Amino acid sequence: MGSNSALSNRLQAAVARGVSVSLPVFAAFAEGAEIRDVEGRRYIDFAGGIGVLNVGHRHPRVLDAVERQLRALTHACFQVTPYEPYVRLAERLNDLAPGNGPKKTLFLTTGAEAIENAVKIARYATGRPALISFAGAFHGRTMMALALTGKMNPYKAGFGPFPADVYHVPFPNKLRGAGTAATMRAIDELFRSSVTRDRVAAVLIEPVQGEGGFNVAPAELLRELRSLCDRCGIVLIADEIQSGFGRTGRMFAIEHSGVVPDLITTAKSLAGGFPLSAVTGRAEIMDSVPPGGLGGTYAGSPIACAAALAVLDVMREENVLGRAERMGARVRERLLAMSRDARFARCIGEVRGLGAMLAIELVSNRESLEPASDLARKTVLKAAELGLIILSCGQNANVLRVLVPLTAPLEMVDEGVSILERALDEAMR
Ligand code: PMP
Repeated sequence: MGSNSALSNRLQAAVARGVSVSLPVFAAFAEGAEIRDVEGRRYIDFAGGIGVLNVGHRHPRVLDAVERQLRALTHACFQVTPYEPYVRLAERLNDLAPGNGPKKTLFLTTGAEAIENAVKIARYATGRPALISFAGAFHGRTMMALALTGKMNPYKAGFGPFPADVYHVPFPNKLRGAGTAATMRAIDELFRSSVTRDRVAAVLIEPVQGEGGFNVAPAELLRELRSLCDRCGIVLIADEIQSGFGRTGRMFAIEHSGVVPDLITTAKSLAGGFPLSAVTGRAEIMDSVPPGGLGGTYAGSPIACAAALAVLDVMREENVLGRAERMGARVRERLLAMSRDARFARCIGEVRGLGAMLAIELVSNRESLEPASDLARKTVLKAAELGLIILSCGQNANVLRVLVPLTAPLEMVDEGVSILERALDEAMR
């Protein structure tokens, strides 16, 4: 297979430069919360393929379900000859999604595609064009999802023009003193300066921003948005692609606030490593689109649906939500202890997150709060040298985030945090 460095050379020669790779580590094998590279080195995986592996790499139940499905039916296209696992998974998601009324689900393949379809549905249901999303948001790399994304570099710069009628407002930031009131004022201002409320189809929000830096939407903001959407006939869309499937200790992060969105987008950990995404929401909104308006050749592949059904079984049988809560409490305690440690007194600006969706923001000092992007990059590289895969995020890539499988033993998670601590210490020298 070759060494990491030989493979890196081949990658550079053969793969488009725009696909950036955060580490020169080629994965060869993975199980649970561990990855082995092509040279046989072991890593604890705090990235989980960017939040895809809440039940871990190659969970035996998921593998079993996929193997059984492989032997029965791999593709038929649901729009041609439908198959039962798609319907069963839709039934289960309809039951799990917040809200008591009738719900329906549509399956797709990627997160971005779920966003595209949520927008299509909201526009059809309201007959309106405009969309509101947030600075720092990440909703995917297709054109509409990019338009909704609130980060120029490296995602948007140079790729425009984007679809029109998309408006961004600030996301609250506790560390820097911006709260719900500022966001609601910005929306009000938007209605006066740029778009009237009766032209807005949807507000899209990540209940915990993922790529944007693990910023938690205050419950008060979600309640205010719910009330605004109710007053103005706007569809409230919760993008739970990164925050969903148990990561925060609830199935969906928005459940912490008690707010019921109209539509929810899911992907990533939904199918434990197989490409699958979904839009789930109020039946009357989902059903506004007439037959033929939604779908896709591979959308809701039987293999991915079988994997997702197994993921849901694992979540219930292994009490993954309870584990997420315990793991979250443990990791938060360890990260807070790091932030109090004299060695890191200057550079950890904040420990934040919800449940087991946790991060530390690195700053050059706690007064100026200037982002320490370089320190974050060095820490990520150092951590890999020491056997930990961890990702950065945030507008300035200065936030280190934990997306370790929720099924990982606590001792392994502890070991991972200890490596992070050592990596940060060494990166500061
Ligand atoms: N929404 C959110 C909140 C995400 O975190 C991501 C992926 N990081 C996406 C949408 C896009 O998903 P995908 O990469 O599968 O298109």
